[in-house]
Amino acid sequence: RLILGIESSCDETSAALVRQDGTVLANVVASQLVHASYGGVVPELASREHLRAIVPVTREAMHLAGEAVLAEKQVLRRVAPQDDNLQGQDGDLQGLKYSDLAAVAVTEGPGLAGALLVGITFAKSVAFAAGVPLIAVNHLEGHIHAVLMESAGAFEGKAPLLAVVVSGGHTHLYLASKDVQGLWRYRNVGRTVDDAAGEAFDKVAKLLGLPYPGGPWIDALARHGVADRELFAVAQIKQKATGHVAPKLVKDAAAREQEPDDATRFDLSFSGLKTAVRRYVELHGMQPAIAARFEALKAAGLDKTKPRGEALAAALGHFDAATLNLIASFQDAAVRNIVRAAFGAAEHFGAHGMLISGGVAANSALRAAMSARAEKQRIAIAFPSIALSTDNAAMIAAAAWPKFVAGRFAEDTLEPTPQLRLG
Ligand code: ATP
Ligand code: MG
Ligand code: FE
Repeated sequence: RLILGIESSCDETSAALVRQDGTVLANVVASQLVHASYGGVVPELASREHLRAIVPVTREAMHLAGEAVLAEKQVLRRVAPQDDNLQGQDGDLQGLKYSDLAAVAVTEGPGLAGALLVGITFAKSVAFAAGVPLIAVNHLEGHIHAVLMESAGAFEGKAPLLAVVVSGGHTHLYLASKDVQGLWRYRNVGRTVDDAAGEAFDKVAKLLGLPYPGGPWIDALARHGVADRELFAVAQIKQKATGHVAPKLVKDAAAREQEPDDATRFDLSFSGLKTAVRRYVELHGMQPAIAARFEALKAAGLDKTKPRGEALAAALGHFDAATLNLIASFQDAAVRNIVRAAFGAAEHFGAHGMLISGGVAANSALRAAMSARAEKQRIAIAFPSIALSTDNAAMIAAAAWPKFVAGRFAEDTLEPTPQLRLG
């Protein structure tokens, strides 16, 4: 059986079909390109684009999943032609019908109100028409399930886990474990006190004359620069009492349940780093070159492409060594910032595994640094595949499965919750 997932919280319209074991039969993502020239997501434009895309994206996902189901059946018929279960009616050969679905799952928040409303209204209609239950999913829980769905049970029975969500709008550390019903429970043990990690990448990218979203650009260009560790200090969040996080292990479960006080939070900050990059640019009189580069990239149409292959090679021609080194140094500092908070929390709470998700989890330097540190500290670590790192509906459907099993369905009065929290 399949859950149809719908995601529309920000600037990706997505529909996906996912089995209980995490198999993805289709995951169609339409990324909105209209925002590129604005340097950020424009809410009104996002809603309009979702309205335009949601029906074709869902049809495409249903079609692809239907083809996948059919292909599977044909293989099985060849292997086991005697199997009565595979004979069926001719209707079987039409792939997937809405009434075949186990449920429809949709992101209820956090996100842009108008954008969420499009997905929720659509999901309600499909669930009602198909006569199947509706399931509401927290977008952040979706990001965490992007890792769990691909881990093939590697984290089964390991609790607590530390889930690190680093995306364009969020930077959170959660302790996660399953309750007796098999439902996941989360406790926030750290968050950014200012900009989100992806926001920092995007803002610094904009400052350096790179297109939006800037994260992938910084990732690609940083490989051609040399990071200077001394350039940017990693922000130290002031803790109330001691001035630092007490490195005491919390081993008993009761202590873990407590709301963390200031001394046991692992908060992050990115705004100082962003300001430091801006100061560096000003101090070295780099602005005219940056403005010229932005115009050149736009004129060459490179702002509408992903920084890969020939497009990346063409873009690189516009960068000098000083800028590339600056990009590499920023990324290095941002990565150290995340690594320090994540491993500080994992050690403090005795986490048995670490899951890193959200758009910034696609960053190659972050992956390398986190993996190296995890190996050294002998902690199991996992990232989603690149396709499941950024917003998608497969992770929403995957997060809905435990709720489906536990019978946690949404009311048909479900509304967007733009500021929805997790845990
Ligand atoms: P939300 O924050 O609500 O989850 P979002 O759309 O902002 O939504 P994602 O789609 O998960 O979040 O992630 C997008 C963010 O990830 C952007 O800020 C983008 O710059 C960043 N990003 C994507 N790829 C990379 C990368 N390779 N390196 C660094 N940042 C990246
Ligand atoms: Mg997005
Ligand atoms: Fe997201």
